Amino acid sequence: MATLNILVAVCLSYVALLFAVAFLAERAALRGRGGWLRSPIVYTLSLSIYCTAWTFYGAVGYAARSGLEYLTIYIGPTLVMIGWWWGLRKMVRIGRTQRITSIADLISSRYGKSNLLAVCVTCVAVIGTTPYIALQLQSVTLSFASFAQSDPQVMQFADSKITALWVAVGLALFTVLFGTRNLDANERHHGVVMAIALEAVVKLFALLAVGVFVVWGVGGGVSQTLARIDASDIGQWQVQGGRWTALIFLSAAAFLTLPRMFQVLVVENEDENHLRTASWAFPTYLMLMSLFVVPIAVMGLELMPEGANPDQFVLTVPLSQGQDGLAMLSFLGGFSSATSMVIVAAIALSTMVSNHVVMPIWLGLTGGGAMISGDVRHVVLLARRLSIAGVLALGYSYYRFSGGGEALAAIGLISFAGVAQFLPALLGGIFWRGATRIGALAGLGVGFSVWVYSLFLPSFGADVFLSTGLMQQGPMGLGWLRPQALFGIAGLDPVVHAVLWSMSLNAGTFILMSLLSFPEPLERLQGAQFVNVFQHSGNPQGWSGGVAQSEDLMVMAQRILGPVEAQSLFQREAEAQGLVGYLPEPTPDFLQTLERELSGSVGAATAHAMVAQIMGRATVSVEDLLAVADETAQMMEYSSQLEVKSTELTRTARQLRAANEKLTQLSVQKDAFLSQISHELRTPMTSIRAFSEILRDADGLSEAELTKYASIIHSEAIRLTRLLDDLLDLSVLENGQVSLNIQRGVLSEVLDHAASATGAESSSLRIIRKRGSEAVQMQTDLDRLSQVFINLIANAQKYCDADRPELTIRVLERDGYLIIDFVDNGTGIPSQAQGLIFEKFSRVSDQKAGGAGLGLAICREIMARLGGAITYLPGQGGAAFRVSLPMKVSLAAQ
Ligand code: ADP
Repeated sequence: MATLNILVAVCLSYVALLFAVAFLAERAALRGRGGWLRSPIVYTLSLSIYCTAWTFYGAVGYAARSGLEYLTIYIGPTLVMIGWWWGLRKMVRIGRTQRITSIADLISSRYGKSNLLAVCVTCVAVIGTTPYIALQLQSVTLSFASFAQSDPQVMQFADSKITALWVAVGLALFTVLFGTRNLDANERHHGVVMAIALEAVVKLFALLAVGVFVVWGVGGGVSQTLARIDASDIGQWQVQGGRWTALIFLSAAAFLTLPRMFQVLVVENEDENHLRTASWAFPTYLMLMSLFVVPIAVMGLELMPEGANPDQFVLTVPLSQGQDGLAMLSFLGGFSSATSMVIVAAIALSTMVSNHVVMPIWLGLTGGGAMISGDVRHVVLLARRLSIAGVLALGYSYYRFSGGGEALAAIGLISFAGVAQFLPALLGGIFWRGATRIGALAGLGVGFSVWVYSLFLPSFGADVFLSTGLMQQGPMGLGWLRPQALFGIAGLDPVVHAVLWSMSLNAGTFILMSLLSFPEPLERLQGAQFVNVFQHSGNPQGWSGGVAQSEDLMVMAQRILGPVEAQSLFQREAEAQGLVGYLPEPTPDFLQTLERELSGSVGAATAHAMVAQIMGRATVSVEDLLAVADETAQMMEYSSQLEVKSTELTRTARQLRAANEKLTQLSVQKDAFLSQISHELRTPMTSIRAFSEILRDADGLSEAELTKYASIIHSEAIRLTRLLDDLLDLSVLENGQVSLNIQRGVLSEVLDHAASATGAESSSLRIIRKRGSEAVQMQTDLDRLSQVFINLIANAQKYCDADRPELTIRVLERDGYLIIDFVDNGTGIPSQAQGLIFEKFSRVSDQKAGGAGLGLAICREIMARLGGAITYLPGQGGAAFRVSLPMKVSLAAQ
């Protein structure tokens, strides 16, 4: 007895092998090697995802229940491949020229790139595929259970819900890893396709092996097996014409419209010519898959106990015969069928969901303007991954919800009927130019609703969604609306009934509404491109001319290049084409030139997308969008850089203007100073010269006169010296050659000294002080500090114009600074002059009194040396200066 553990180990190794194959194939494709990846055989094998677990296990069960009817599921696709391969070629050609990424993309592109239609198709596809994914999970779970039953020790592992959950999680992981590794413009997945081709081989081999074993190992050879078949119930089944026709039609339709089939058939197709091989090779594959179905079913019915699930015969017959190895192989076959289907379905659905639902919503929310290409890539990938997880989660929920009890075939048919609703819009789209978007939407809507009502909801069983009463009497007692007997036609098989009504109402509405509505211009253009794809794509450039297009190109070029340049470009081209006075023909050469010109202004991808749009040549793919976004992002970045630069420039210009104003003011001040200083120098010099001449030349001067003249000369010389001292002092301070003489002392003493040095006691200026607050110990250059105080007190003496001039000296400590304010009660200094008074030679007005405007400049330099500052304090009534010194140097008195 094979234990479940071995089974799990084999299963995991198999999955690891699949990973390795997918990985290697992906790498080979990336490096441009892997030509073998593109062989028609790989393509044919990838089509085998049509044979899911449903066909692998279910076909036998189907045969056991309904005889040869299972063949219909193979006949449909066979007919399509053999009888209609030119139609498939058309789909593939359209897929390539229009860069179609999914069936939703194809239908929406055909009908004027309508996103509404894409969203509808996506929804139907998701709803239609969900039961099918559930079906795969169920079959893997059932096959696990079959093994588990033979190994009672590990029963807990056979908990079907947990197995199904693990399988779903594993599949989601695989799909995310290989389905969304990178964004490929053509949505091709070499790794996945290769893994699926391998799985195709495994499942065929497994089924054939079981078949051979049953016929020769158990049945005793071909003739005996045939005799047994004849004798069994299966040999007696009658063909039901209606059901057969419906099922063949259904499987043919589903072969074309199932999202996963569309993915491998059209999107992953590398070369149209592969269809040639597939047209015979795929039917052969199907035939081999169906070859041993009846023998296995007959033997299963004979050998297995009454009530055994015929859906598991492929597995349970070898198990019951003790053929564990064979059973294991058969299990892997079923596992392959299930996983390959789920992986491709999840990729196909996630492409649709992310391209048509998530991305438009995201672009809408972010306004599209704020997109940076890295972000878009990131968002697309994230959307894909989440969609994959979502699709599998839905499948799992359906499995849990529906109880997983239905016969496999029934669920499969429900899915088939759901996605078959795309058929009218699909075929109409590629063969009938008159088909319109309104028609497609209406047809799809009607068909889908009928399917939901008559097949999907009833499939959950009575009283889940639809009550038994409603099923039997119809809604509100309207008998003709009974879900399984619409319009009073009762007694039909439910599937046949649903297919009949949904498809005929769908097609009817589609045709009627298409006839009644008018296609929009883009729809007409796309319609022509699709229907006449072979004519259009014969020319590799694909551009088709026309006056209307030339006009559109002209309008666009004018908008981008500017009227003058655009007109001269078109004129030159028209002359070159010999069409003076007309618009040039949009020849491939001209379009290339135009694209080149435009790309100078808007970027190559944008230019191409714009020209392509006007020429109606191609849909804009996600990749185009990304490239456009790249360019937009670059431009936006460039423009934001420019913006930053220009703000910087504005700021610099403002600063320069302010500096310039200051300089102008200073220069005016300096001129005033020069005249002042020359006046200052000249006045004492003149009197010194005059009085010294008198002393030299005049005789008989009295003693008193002599003394008077000599003392005038003396005091004038002192004034001169002071001026020169000030200039010298300032230059020393500014050049940093000053050495400080740091001493300890008390603030009040320094202030006392300054007050007496200015002779303030005897002058009219009254000094108001608070001695209590002045008892601050300081350690600084006391002489320099006193020089600042002297200057401030002297300024108040000189400039305070109050009737009773007063100077208040306030001392406070704040934020680690000792602050000494000098506030007088004069008119103060006008605000426009406040920024200037600390500059050299600055004087507020043309005052007679006072010095050369050096005092405050010297104060500022001194305070900076002492680690403090001197500032003007506005809004104090009179002139107010604030001297601040850091406390750590000034040290408060103990
Ligand atoms: P000066 O050597 O001319 O006194 P200062 O640099 O000390 O130069 O002062 C610059 C100018 O600021 C003075 O010319 C005067 O116009 C103005 N000023 C200074 N202190 C006062 C004050 N207490 N009241 C009014 N104006 C003042």
